[in-house]
Amino acid sequence: MTPPPTTTARNAPRPTESTSTPLADLGQVWLDGRLVPAAQATISVMDHGVLYGDGVFEGIRAYSGKVLKLKTHLARFFESAKAIRLTLPYSADDLADAIRQTLHANNRTDGYIRLAATRGVGTMGLNPFLSPTPSVFIITCNLKMYPQELYDNGMKVITSSVMRNHPAALSPRIKSNNYLNNILAKIEAIDAGCLEAVMLNPQGMVAECTGDNIFIVKHGKLITPPLHAGILEGITRNIVIDLARKQGLEVLETDITKHDLYTADEMLLTGTGAEVIAVTEIDNRKIGYDENQGKPGPITLRLLKAFRDMLAAGAPED
Ligand code: PMP
Repeated sequence: MTPPPTTTARNAPRPTESTSTPLADLGQVWLDGRLVPAAQATISVMDHGVLYGDGVFEGIRAYSGKVLKLKTHLARFFESAKAIRLTLPYSADDLADAIRQTLHANNRTDGYIRLAATRGVGTMGLNPFLSPTPSVFIITCNLKMYPQELYDNGMKVITSSVMRNHPAALSPRIKSNNYLNNILAKIEAIDAGCLEAVMLNPQGMVAECTGDNIFIVKHGKLITPPLHAGILEGITRNIVIDLARKQGLEVLETDITKHDLYTADEMLLTGTGAEVIAVTEIDNRKIGYDENQGKPGPITLRLLKAFRDMLAAGAPED
């Protein structure tokens, strides 16, 4: 039987989707302690990462040779691993070195870095303790999450009917290799003609988007759901909170509802992939009022500039 083509007309990237590097251009991938050509960086079909989505990951970004918040990303990676009882066979320093080695091997000073650990090869059946050796890998690539037009003019989102995972079922604090919850919501977004969806928590409060944290601006205050809303503690979220406070803005981490989104003065999303991006429409309601309606708002633009300025001054690695 001939293998199916890797890209068909149906699954070819649409012009509005993120652009990333094809496999052939990935260069070297770090896999279990060695740099190997991307095509040879493979994981066994008996790896529980493949069989069950059992593993954890980080999305990290390098800017002009600095790895933004590398220490914090590694700390979150180790926390995710601890939460799922996965013992990583490397230290944080080992992985920091491996990330730099991979960037260097691919002549990269800028781009996206995917660090992931899988449970490793085991037996058929769920028992993770029969997989003695996790696999750890590092991919570096280009990534522009959204088209430039959306960064300039703001993006449209929907509220998904798919509830964010209940923290007592699978905590969104764990950045696990099982993203089906988010993928189901992402499918709704794409079906609705947009690229991101807001997910509510089991209490009906706003949690986060499929791959981004959410902020609104109301009466000059920056507001974002708290960690107990069942969200990933986004590293870009925390950067934006710090930048906002440094600018003298009041920041509230408090529960927000869908109504708060609909009636917000401004809305923005943050994420390592997305960076900082304005939302200008949700569920067919234009965000904002008067001359700002349907446009990136002034506080969003200020925060975007502060984020860019921080990067231009040299991305902090701590
Ligand atoms: N929430 C989810 C579900 C995510 O996957 C991500 C990362 N893409 C974020 C929030 C943003 O987190 P960070 O700023 O650390 O990338």
